[in-house]
Amino acid sequence: MRYQSTRGHPDRKQFCEILLEGLAPDGGLYLPENYPQLDASALARLREIWQNQGYAALAFEILSLYIDDIPREDLRALCQKTYTQEVFGTPEIVPLKPLTGAGQKHPQMFLEALSNGPTLAFKDMAMQLLGHLFEYELGRRGETLNILGATSGDTGSAAEYAMRGKKGVRVFMTSPNGRMSPFQQAQMFSLLDENIHNIAIDGVFDDCQDIVKAVSNDLAFKRRYKIGTVNSINWARLLAQVVYYFAGYFQASQDNGQKVSFTVPSGNFGNVCAGHVARMMGLPIAKLVVATNENDVLDEFFRTGVYRVRTTANTLETSSPSMDISKASNFERFVFDLLGRDAAQTRQIFGQALSQEGFFDLSADPRFANAAAVFGFQSGRSTHADRLKTIQRVFAEHGLMIDTHTADGVKVATERRDPLVPMVVLETALPIKFAATIVEALGRQPERPAQFEGIELLPKRVQLMQADVEQVKSYIQKHCD
Ligand SMILES: *Cc1c(COP(=O)(O)O)cnc(C)c1O
Repeated sequence: MRYQSTRGHPDRKQFCEILLEGLAPDGGLYLPENYPQLDASALARLREIWQNQGYAALAFEILSLYIDDIPREDLRALCQKTYTQEVFGTPEIVPLKPLTGAGQKHPQMFLEALSNGPTLAFKDMAMQLLGHLFEYELGRRGETLNILGATSGDTGSAAEYAMRGKKGVRVFMTSPNGRMSPFQQAQMFSLLDENIHNIAIDGVFDDCQDIVKAVSNDLAFKRRYKIGTVNSINWARLLAQVVYYFAGYFQASQDNGQKVSFTVPSGNFGNVCAGHVARMMGLPIAKLVVATNENDVLDEFFRTGVYRVRTTANTLETSSPSMDISKASNFERFVFDLLGRDAAQTRQIFGQALSQEGFFDLSADPRFANAAAVFGFQSGRSTHADRLKTIQRVFAEHGLMIDTHTADGVKVATERRDPLVPMVVLETALPIKFAATIVEALGRQPERPAQFEGIELLPKRVQLMQADVEQVKSYIQKHCD
């Protein structure tokens, strides 16, 4: 399998080359040259592997379609090491929980539990694999990597828990001082591993992101200190996420003649883009429903054909903060496919129109109709009041506490649901991460998994810093030399 840029750069690359890279050299995102196609017998075989051998074996089968520069037995071992009951809490790894009562008839609505990994958000599903892949590939090359990131919560903790103790990798994670939830701060700052560095910046999330950009733009520094990233445009993360669409499909259906729909609480479009890839491979997905919060860039596009990025000032701070985006960094991948893989037009849109005008308009392009008709996309949005109502309703009817992001998904799924097709809503985090809104909705604290009892009281390791690029650089220097 070779990978190409969405903006038409002539180079073709192998998986391990793009694993440690961010953007393609022309600013585009990497996609496989084609999506491997699964016919009926291949799908039947995967269902059997899922049933008899479980998630790790399924992950190996799907990954091996896209990765041919890691020996098969090594890749199998990496998958087995990553997806264990010990790390993800259950033998199924991603069990479904029914959201329709026992008395009601099929087809049902389900939650797919993706948030039982070390940091209680779905990002662990991909990041844990990335940790093992990085350690493996860096070891093979005899290289080291220093991951520099900015987080408002979920990404940073998932990256740190994936990379802690890994050979050849250090993490320098900036976050806005005092702005993450107390639980999220405790999760990150209580890590005492030598290769994990928490940097709390006196500022907001955008200050952190600006620092990361400034450091990455200093090419000499970047090369000298081997700076890399683990953000959501990384193809390996997206690929790891493809696997749980298969596992969700096999659990929600009795045989491969059936269709299943998915609703995905979305921000940067990484999670739902993995669903798009699964569908392109031939997994019988009826609809892919994109759920947004008040920051509805994506919902607006799927309703109107107009994609209008928001300014930072126009991006609202909501109670589902991991979906508070001004533009969706993975969206270019889908648009490339929507345009029939026209790299010149993708380059024109994402390389020029968006940065110059702040929007693009496909409403008059006949291919826009394909987003729903051919690619199965639908969308909807949710508000704070919707989240509260949905959290209350799901708790009253099913005795389940769901987090605010998952609530956005359940709200939109309920509106967009086809009565004849099972609907799987991806559970993207556990409620304990966003306790304040749960208390507002239910008047009580969310359940706390046993391993997180008292983490707020643990010793913390965090370096406080001004929003100053030079300070961050010299901190990195000091800890790399
Ligand atoms: C990251 C995140 C999202 C958004 O996922 P994307 O892949 O960026 O669309 C939704 N919910 C939670 C809890 C998250 O952490």
